[in-house]
Amino acid sequence: MKVGILALQGDFEAHARVLERLGVGWSYVKRAEDLGGIDALILPGGESTTFLKFLEGNGFAEAVRQLPAQGKPLFGTCAGAILLAREVTHPPQPSLALVDVTIERNAYGRQMQSAVRRGRCALKGDPMEMVFIRAPVIRRVGSGVRVLGECEGLPVCVEQDNCLLATFHPELTRDTTLHEHFLCLAGKP
Ligand code: GLN
Repeated sequence: MKVGILALQGDFEAHARVLERLGVGWSYVKRAEDLGGIDALILPGGESTTFLKFLEGNGFAEAVRQLPAQGKPLFGTCAGAILLAREVTHPPQPSLALVDVTIERNAYGRQMQSAVRRGRCALKGDPMEMVFIRAPVIRRVGSGVRVLGECEGLPVCVEQDNCLLATFHPELTRDTTLHEHFLCLAGKP
């Protein structure tokens, strides 16, 4: 199995380190042609507006959007989650629209309101450490979407079909629960 990591900008290296710890092959994806040999794709944290600029043109965004239908799961963290959401607000911006949620960008406030919080994850017994950095907030969850994680009364991790979305940064803690779950979605035995 090989997991692609969108490596246009942001904290893609942190995801690579997690996959190494889990003993899974990975490769960076910088252009549409790099999507060929991968079984799943991670969209990291960073700046979603910057990702959109890189993805536009050359059919790159559309090629990413087609992956779940080809049985290749997507995992978006923070800015990556913004890319996956059906509707983006504050301000509105285009997205891949693969997960039926409405997400509000920078909803906790400015950089000063970035924080490590503890939340609940349905995949884990103990509380989960969650790193929020200029994070978005999920304001609406569609009926086909499963909430996997909550923090301070808000949904922070959801999945729909083979798309997984977290508004925080699981790649910045030692907790590999969500990456392991993602690899299961991708068919890792
Ligand atoms: N605030 C960023 C955005 O709107 C996301 C920040 C992050 O990925 N840590 O795209």
